[in-house]
Amino acid sequence: MRTDARAAALALSLLILIAQPTALSAQQAELPAPEAWAALERGDADKAAAIFREELERSPSNAALHYGAGYAAFALGRTDAAISALKHAIECNPRFVAAMVLLSQVAYQAADLDLAVSTLEKAAAIVPRDRKIAQQLEQWRREAALHGRLEERSTARFKVLFEGGTLKATGDRVAAVLESVYWRIGKALNTYPSETLTVILYSNRQFQDITRAPAWAGGGYDGRIRLPINGALRSPKTLERVVIHEFVHAVIHDAAPGGVPTWVNEGIASYMESADRAWVARVLRSAESLIPIEDLADGFDHFDGATALVAYAESLVAGQLLCEKLGANLGPFLQMLGNGHTIEQALSSHNVQPDGFYAEWKRRVQGK
Ligand SMILES: [Zn+2]
Repeated sequence: MRTDARAAALALSLLILIAQPTALSAQQAELPAPEAWAALERGDADKAAAIFREELERSPSNAALHYGAGYAAFALGRTDAAISALKHAIECNPRFVAAMVLLSQVAYQAADLDLAVSTLEKAAAIVPRDRKIAQQLEQWRREAALHGRLEERSTARFKVLFEGGTLKATGDRVAAVLESVYWRIGKALNTYPSETLTVILYSNRQFQDITRAPAWAGGGYDGRIRLPINGALRSPKTLERVVIHEFVHAVIHDAAPGGVPTWVNEGIASYMESADRAWVARVLRSAESLIPIEDLADGFDHFDGATALVAYAESLVAGQLLCEKLGANLGPFLQMLGNGHTIEQALSSHNVQPDGFYAEWKRRVQGK
């Protein structure tokens, strides 16, 4: 499962910054390179990045241009470039709160909690009455304090954090599962994340506190994998399934940092997590009604547990169909979504007719 609340909140805060240039104009008379911002709004981050780059050659100390470049880099999934550009923006204008807020969020998504906290502290010092910033800061400080108490088990590609003692064996097991599936999942999605991936094991209560995920969530991915270790996850088979599921989300995020509908994300993760899919037919058969695919695009967090189960089952059917139809093109298909193309464009480009795809999905979901 996936906690989309954070990603949604981040997307929203970015939208607010774009939709309300006043957030900037308090500090900058007007936004430079308006055509680049328009390109960002259209989802054409490549174009925006090119314009910002060009403009920065002319005005290398323009804070708003660095901010735009950082924004575009983040939209393109280039986290390091985004962090560097936003740091430049703040160097050029040490009171640039919007750049600090964005930098802190990019850092948080990149699992750099220290940078996220220290940057937001600077923002809070400038606008001490901003309640949203103060609340976010408090939440992140709590998280940092908790993580400071955890033990760490590092392998070549993964860093697993867990409470010592009782969870040590689980931590070792999680690290082993991840190392064993890295190449298989990477090959299927034609994507091999190069950054170290952090995995944090929580007690159930800590998980709710940190993620604010719905009670039914079995785990979450928001730049790092978070797993609540409850009774069920003490079963090695369930643990393996959940770990693989969240790792698939991490790899999909690496291929396409944005633009992936929830049913694609959850569908592929649910399909790849295990070969035991008997639950899908069972859930679909006993569902009172089916959910149209267009209602499965924007997160499942608002569903109750039973509805969420139907949503996952329907998504899995779609994920399986994507894997069957696209084969080795699954990775390039995801990259197209990440670059702002629609599902229909990305399917057609890989010789899958969208109408036929949706018809086949419907037929399978209805058990015909
Ligand atoms: Zn998921």
